[in-house]
Amino acid sequence: MPDLTVTPRLPNRTADELSIAPDDGWNALYIDGKWVQAGPRETIAVKDPASRSEIGRVPRGTAEDVDDAYGAAEQAQHDWAARTPHDRAALLNDARDVLLSWEDDLLYLFGAECGGTTLKGGFEMELVEKMMRVSEGLAFDMSGEHKSSLVENKETQVRRNPVGVVGAITPWNFPLHLSMRVVAPALATGNAVVLKPAEQTPYLGGLVIARAFEEAGLPAGLLNVVPGDGEQTGDAVATHPTPRVMSFTGSSEVGRQVGARAVEQFTQPDLELGGNNAHIVTANADLDWAVDAGVFGSFTHQGQECISINRHIVHESHYDEYVDRLSSRAARLPVGDPREPETVVGPVINEQQRDKIVSYIERTVDNGATVAHGGDHDGLFVQPTVLSDVTNDMPAACNEHFGPVAPVIPYDDEADAIAIANDTEYGLSGSVHSTDLGQAKRIAEALETGMVHINDQPLNDHAHTAFGGVGASGMGRYNGEAVLRQFTETKWISIQREPREYPY
Ligand code: NAP
Repeated sequence: MPDLTVTPRLPNRTADELSIAPDDGWNALYIDGKWVQAGPRETIAVKDPASRSEIGRVPRGTAEDVDDAYGAAEQAQHDWAARTPHDRAALLNDARDVLLSWEDDLLYLFGAECGGTTLKGGFEMELVEKMMRVSEGLAFDMSGEHKSSLVENKETQVRRNPVGVVGAITPWNFPLHLSMRVVAPALATGNAVVLKPAEQTPYLGGLVIARAFEEAGLPAGLLNVVPGDGEQTGDAVATHPTPRVMSFTGSSEVGRQVGARAVEQFTQPDLELGGNNAHIVTANADLDWAVDAGVFGSFTHQGQECISINRHIVHESHYDEYVDRLSSRAARLPVGDPREPETVVGPVINEQQRDKIVSYIERTVDNGATVAHGGDHDGLFVQPTVLSDVTNDMPAACNEHFGPVAPVIPYDDEADAIAIANDTEYGLSGSVHSTDLGQAKRIAEALETGMVHINDQPLNDHAHTAFGGVGASGMGRYNGEAVLRQFTETKWISIQREPREYPY
C-alpha cells in the first residue's frame, strides 16, 4: 500500500454507546437555529448498507421548508458578513473541536450510514479536519486590490465580499467531507448556507454538521439543513432564486440539470461531477509501485469515489503481468463488515448502485472481456473485480462504473495511451506511472483533466489545493484560494479625489 499520510482510526464504540446516535431527535430539519420535527411530512428511512437495517428516519423537506431555510439564511447573512474574520475563524475552530470530540461516534457512523471501512472513516476525518483548518485561514484572506487608475486623481479599490447565500446539494460517498468542503469555506468567507444532503446519508452529510456548529455557538439561520430526496427537496433547493452560488456535487446527469436551472435564476453554478479516471502504466513504469497504486486507487471505498481509478491503461509489455498481479492482490483484499478493522472492501451503498455495477461487469464480459478475478456479489458486497481484454468502448470502461472494478486496457504507444485516456466526456483526474519523469510529465500535460498525479493514483485531495474537473466533470474548483474566489465576488469602488474633465 502507498503511504496515505492517514492513520487508520478505529471506532471505540458500539451502536448502544453512541452519544450522537440517530434517534427520535434526529427526525428533524434544522432551520433558523431550530430543530423542526417531521410532523405531518413524509419520512425517509436511512439504512445501513452492510445489514440493510434501518438506522433512523428523516423528514422529506418540502418546498416551504426550503423557502423558510433560504429566508433564514438571507436574514442571518448580513450580520455575519459584518463580523470580524477572527469571529468567523473562531466559530470554525470551535466546531472542529466539537467534531473531533465525537470522532469515535463518527467513525461508527461512517460504517453504519455509508458502508465506509475504518480506514476510509479515518481518511474522511482527516480530510474534514484539514478542510476546517484551511477554511479558518480563508476568513483572513479576503483581501482585495488597490489598482492604478486610467483617470487622473482617481483611486481604485477592488474589494472582495461574500456572495450572500450559498445553496448546497451533496452526495453520499464522502458525506461529511463533501458537505463540509462547502459549509466551512462558505461560513468563513461571510456567507450563509442552505444544505441538502443525500437521501442515503442525511446524518453525516448534514445533521451532524448542524449539531456541531450549533454546539460551537453558530448564530441562528447561518446554516440550514433540509434533508430530503432529490426530486422534491433537491429541486426546491436548486431552483430557488435566493442563492448566489449553487454548489452541486454529484452525477454529471443531475449536475447538468441543476446547473441549467441555476443559470436561469442568474445563480453561479459550481458543479463537481463524475469522473472516468485513467491510470496509465507506461513501459518505463516501476511495476511494483504502479500495481500498489492501482489497487489502492481502484478498491478504496469500493471504488465509489469520483476520483477512483475507472480504467487501467497498461503498456502491452507489462499487460499480462499487471493483470496477474492486480488480480492476486484483489483476491487477497478482505471483504466484509466495514466496522471490522481488517476489512478493506465493504458493501456498496444500495441495491440500485449494486445492480448498475453488476450490469457493467456483465455487459463488458458479453462484449468480449475476461474476468481475471471476481465478478460475483453477495447482497451489497461486490467482489473486487479485475477485467482483462477490455477496450475503451466497453460498458465498464466508457461509463463511470463507481464500483470495485478494475478494467485493464492494453496500449502500444504513448500517443495511443493518451488518446484512450482522453476518449471520454469526463475530465476529472488521472495518474501516470513512468520512471522517466520527462515522459510522465509529457503525458500528464496531454491528459484533458483538472488533476493528474505522477507515480501515484488519483485519490488525492488537499484542502489548500484546487480540486475539480473539466468537461462533464464540472465547472469551478474547491479548496483553498480557489473556493474563496467561488464564494466571494469582487466590487470595484473608485474615489475621484479632484474634479475631472468631461467631454461635454
Ligand atoms: P446524484 O444522484 O447526482 O445525487 C447527488 C445529490 O443530488 C443528492 O443529494 C441527490 O439527492 C441530489 N439530486 C438528485 N436528483 C436531483 C434533482 N433532480 N435536483 C436536485 N438535486 C437532486 O449522485 P450520487 O449518486 O449521490 O453521487 C455519485 C456521483 O457523484 C458520481 O457521479 C460521483 O463521481 C460524483 N461525485 C463527484 C465528486 C467531485 O468532487 N467531482 C465528489 C463525489 C461524488 P438524493 O440523494 O436524495 O437523490
